[in-house]
Amino acid sequence: MLTRRRFISVAAAGAAVFKLPRLSAAEYDLLIKGGRVIDPSRRFDRAADVAIKGGKIAAVQPNIAASTAAESIDATGKLVVPGLIDIHTHAGREKEDAALCLADGVTSLVEAGSAGADGIDAVVAIAKAAPTRMRVLINAGKKGIIPEGDLMDLANVDVAAMRAAIERHRDVVVGIKARLSKPVAGKNDLEALKRAQSVARPLGVPIMIHMGQTESPLPDILAVLKSGDIVTHMYAPPPNGIFDGSGKLLAAVTDARKRGIWFDFGNGRVDHFNWAIVDHAMKERVLPDTISTDWGQAARTDQVFNFGNVLSKFLMVGMPLDAVIACATSTAAKTFPSFKGAGTLRPGSTADVAVIELRQGSFEFEDNYKGKRAGTQKLVTTATVLGGKRITTS
Ligand SMILES: [Zn+2]
Repeated sequence: MLTRRRFISVAAAGAAVFKLPRLSAAEYDLLIKGGRVIDPSRRFDRAADVAIKGGKIAAVQPNIAASTAAESIDATGKLVVPGLIDIHTHAGREKEDAALCLADGVTSLVEAGSAGADGIDAVVAIAKAAPTRMRVLINAGKKGIIPEGDLMDLANVDVAAMRAAIERHRDVVVGIKARLSKPVAGKNDLEALKRAQSVARPLGVPIMIHMGQTESPLPDILAVLKSGDIVTHMYAPPPNGIFDGSGKLLAAVTDARKRGIWFDFGNGRVDHFNWAIVDHAMKERVLPDTISTDWGQAARTDQVFNFGNVLSKFLMVGMPLDAVIACATSTAAKTFPSFKGAGTLRPGSTADVAVIELRQGSFEFEDNYKGKRAGTQKLVTTATVLGGKRITTS
């Protein structure tokens, strides 16, 4: 294990790539050398090299000779973690989105409800063309995200169209997204959610709800959710956040977590979290299962920026590094069956890897209400490996 001082002193070094002449067949295709490997799926956190062959992780152990590999990435002073999994993005809007996320270390992601039944085919085409493992949630409203509110007109919550769209794209459309806040659903939140569940349950797919500022109380909404469903924007300010007026966690939230419902962060840009609620949640030990960005191209220059930036917010509020990495890798991999086998560096698994620099300094982070906080650490991806292939990262 690198000492902290040593880790800081080498943190400024860039990830260099060395190509060795191919005189004979190398034992490994790629070697990620000299980093601190954090793999929460195996509770692994120590200095080690990661060897890759045939697109798979071949070995994770110290002191693998560089001469055994055709190519090396110098990860000295950096973190080497499983490829990141972002379960709430809007990366299906533009065909270049997934590649932008890939440069941030995101090798698996979910496009969460940008489109409903009417527009799903175009989003599925983008997902299928993405270089990464990209899956899609269909919006419960057939017109997708619309200014007048996805679910404001119940005629848009078309059960037959939703079901047909999922059945048409079972390999890519892995669940349903229901945005339930008042400007999106009005008084229809529960009815729309029940309709979505009537489609999801028989097909055995999860629903991701967007909570916060709903017309209906959160316990009534949680009561409609089943095991495996996901609640995003878990730190949404009132009305109808996860804490009651006196700051106590709602019993219905504790119960939902016991029933196997996931709670996700979902950074986003409008009305999804403020620092006061995050602070309170940390104090009460109400931690996220998964951390996600709610990324879109507009968020690349505002509040969200990239996955590393969002994850760094949790380092700032005191979550341990390995717990933060777990929220973006091993736990995120459990939320959708299509991510089975991802989010790990276990030998034999697909070689999706992020090499991340843990920069030390003063960094500003913002909540959804222009609240600014200064942190001392920032996660910056310097190299991504996808299926054993190194992706050029800025
Ligand atoms: Zn979203």
